[in-house]
Amino acid sequence: MVEKIRLAQGAGGELMDNLIKDKILKYFAGKSNSAEIPLSMLDDAAVIDDIVFSTDSHTVQPLIFPGGDVGSLAVCGTINDVSVLGAKPLALSAGFILEEGFSVETFEKIVKSMGKYSEGAGVPIITGDTKVVEKGAIQEFMINTSGIGKRSEFLDSNIREVTRYRQFNQRWLLDSNLEKGDKIIVSGNMGEHGIALLSFREGYGFETKMKSDVAPINDLMKNALLTGGIVSAKDPTRGGLANTVNEFSEKSKIGIILDEEAIPIPNGVRSACDMLGIDPLEIGNEGKVVIGVVKEKADDVLSILKKHSFGKNAAIIGEATDTMNGVVLNTVVGGKRILHKPIGDPVPRIC
Ligand code: MG
Repeated sequence: MVEKIRLAQGAGGELMDNLIKDKILKYFAGKSNSAEIPLSMLDDAAVIDDIVFSTDSHTVQPLIFPGGDVGSLAVCGTINDVSVLGAKPLALSAGFILEEGFSVETFEKIVKSMGKYSEGAGVPIITGDTKVVEKGAIQEFMINTSGIGKRSEFLDSNIREVTRYRQFNQRWLLDSNLEKGDKIIVSGNMGEHGIALLSFREGYGFETKMKSDVAPINDLMKNALLTGGIVSAKDPTRGGLANTVNEFSEKSKIGIILDEEAIPIPNGVRSACDMLGIDPLEIGNEGKVVIGVVKEKADDVLSILKKHSFGKNAAIIGEATDTMNGVVLNTVVGGKRILHKPIGDPVPRIC
């Protein structure tokens, strides 16, 4: 039987991991691939010759939704992936694929939004490509953005601050850098993007007017690095917080214990998830970062995040531990539950 690609293999969970590991990585691991942080590390971005480089394609439906659109997602998503390595994003590319018959007015609206977000974040779009395909070849409109960045001017002082408290031999903020005792911080509310989009798309009519959290986090990351003590950072996009902390745990080969009560989840997200039977921790976010920080600096980093307009609801939500493997959630009712890596995506096509 001919094996065919399934939707869940693009959903950011375990099935996608397997597709990447079994069908992609082995063909891209030739001798010329001498990247300092290579593709095979599957981090948010790669590093070669001190250039940080990342790419992302966006197929969200609908293209325009409460709080954002495919253009703002494409700009912020790539800025954020470059930023969380400890880099200052310098520039983006934009590749458009348009379906014949697509509204020129909507196209312009989305491109205008990209310009606004890139200008706001101080990261210009400096190269691009536009293709039009016949009707039915794709659905409406897809955008790919790539981004480059250079080492943040505050990354070395951040690392020096880490080494005041523990050994640290890494040059970048990798998923694999956590050690026991490190604290886990989220920069704000979880679940808003996915639930806003799902609610709007399916017309559930939830009481609360939910908006996507889409935002560039480069400035927030800069402030955090300036404070110092950060060892890892990752944006909790597809697969949500559950996926992010499991990536930390797997790659750092360390357990992570989270305090459910400390995780900021707005009531609207919580009630929508209850109604739909989905876990808010598996819902994608588009303007948040999860940070691993040495415990001595956790309070300082938290307070600097809270001063930023994109970090008001930041919270310390847990820590790395060597007493167990994987991710465990101390629940509100006093029990424990294993927080698994999502297998597929509870809310498809949100980014
Ligand atoms: Mg990412």
